[in-house]
Amino acid sequence: MNHLAKKYDAINLSQGFPDFDPDSRLIDLVTKAMHSGYNQYAPMAGNMELREAIAKKYDVLYQSSYHPETDITITAGATQAIFCAISAFVKSGDEVIIFRPAYDCYEPAIALNGGKTISVTLDGPDYQVNWNTVKEAINDHTKMIIINTPQNPIGTIFSEKDLLQLQALTKDTNIIVLSDEVYEHIVFDGETHKSVCLFPDLKARSFVAASFGKTFHNTGWKVGYCCAPKALMDEFRKVHQFNVFCINHPTQKALADYLNEPDHYLELPGFYQKKRDLFLDLIKTSRFRFTPSKGTYFQLLDYSAITDEGDVDLAKRLVKEKQLASIPLSVFYNKEINNNVLRFCFAKTDDTLKRAADIINTI
Ligand code: PMP
Ligand code: GLN
Repeated sequence: MNHLAKKYDAINLSQGFPDFDPDSRLIDLVTKAMHSGYNQYAPMAGNMELREAIAKKYDVLYQSSYHPETDITITAGATQAIFCAISAFVKSGDEVIIFRPAYDCYEPAIALNGGKTISVTLDGPDYQVNWNTVKEAINDHTKMIIINTPQNPIGTIFSEKDLLQLQALTKDTNIIVLSDEVYEHIVFDGETHKSVCLFPDLKARSFVAASFGKTFHNTGWKVGYCCAPKALMDEFRKVHQFNVFCINHPTQKALADYLNEPDHYLELPGFYQKKRDLFLDLIKTSRFRFTPSKGTYFQLLDYSAITDEGDVDLAKRLVKEKQLASIPLSVFYNKEINNNVLRFCFAKTDDTLKRAADIINTI
C-alpha cells in the first residue's frame, strides 16, 4: 500500500508510522551520544543505562520488577524480540495460539521454527475474546500463546478480567505467553494498560515485547526491548546473541537519557486521543461506521453501507481514484474473509487527518 500510495500521490494512512518527527531533543541526544564515544558495539543484552531506565519504568508504572542485568534485552524493534522469543521456545510440532486479526510477524516466525499457528478468530464490531474457545484450543502441543494489547489492527485492549482468564488457563501448564505490548502507552478514554507483568503467575511465564518506535515516534530507528524472568530470558539471549548480537549503540544511549527525563511517555495517551477524536469528529457524517479505537493508533472503518466490494479491491481503488491509502482488514486474518472493514492509521499531523477526512466524506 505504501508503494501504491507513492505511485498515486495518495494521503497515506496505511502502514502504521507517524508522518511527523520525534522530539528534536531526542534527535539531539543521538548526536550527543555519537560525539561522546557511543559508536562501537553495545553489550549483547543492551546498553546498561537503557536497561536500568526500562526497569525503573516498570517499577513506576506497574510496580513490577525486572532486573536490568538478567531480565531485560534491547532488540532491533519489537519484531526481533518477538522472533527471538518464538525461536527460543517453539520447535517442530509445537502449537502457538494467536488472536486474529493479528499483526503479521507472528505466524511466519512460528512457521520458520516448524510450529503450527492455531488462530482464535475475534469477530467485530467489538472483537472480544471468548476464553472458552481459547480453552478448547489448548492441548498437549500448545507451547505458546501470543497476545497483543492494545491490539493492532482492531484497536481493542485486554481488560483485567481477560488477563485473569489467561492466567487461570495457563496455570499448571508449561505454556509460555508472549505479550506484544508495543502500544502500551497508547490507550484512550481514561483506561489503563494491563500488562501481563501486573499478574505474578502470568508474569512468571511471559515475555513482554515493546517498541520505542511507537512510544517516541521513531519507527525507523527500530529499537525495542524484551522483558522476562531470568529463566526465560536466558533462552531468549541464546537466540539474540547469534541473531544480531547487539543493537546500534548511540540510539540506545539517547533513549536511556530521554527515558530518564520525566513524563515523556505519559503524554502519549492524551496526544493520540486528540488525534483519534479529531479524525472521528471530522468523519462523523461520512457513510463509514465505526466504534472508536480503545488503543493503538489505528481506527477501523466499516464500509458496509457504501459498497459490498472486497476490502482489498476497495483499498486499491481508493488509492487510485481518491488518493487515499488504508489497509484492508482481511490481510490480518491471512485467509479469504471480507468484513467490509479498512484500517486507517491516525498517527498523522492534524493537517493530514483533515485532508484525509475531506476525502472520506466524499466516499
Ligand atoms: N507488534 C505490533 C502489534 C506492531 O504494530 C508493530 C509495529 N509495526 C510491531 C510489533 C513491531 O514493532 P517494531 O517496529 O518495533 O519492530
Ligand atoms: N506495525 C505497522 C503496521 O501495522 C507496520 C510495521 C510493518 O509494516 N512491518 O502497519
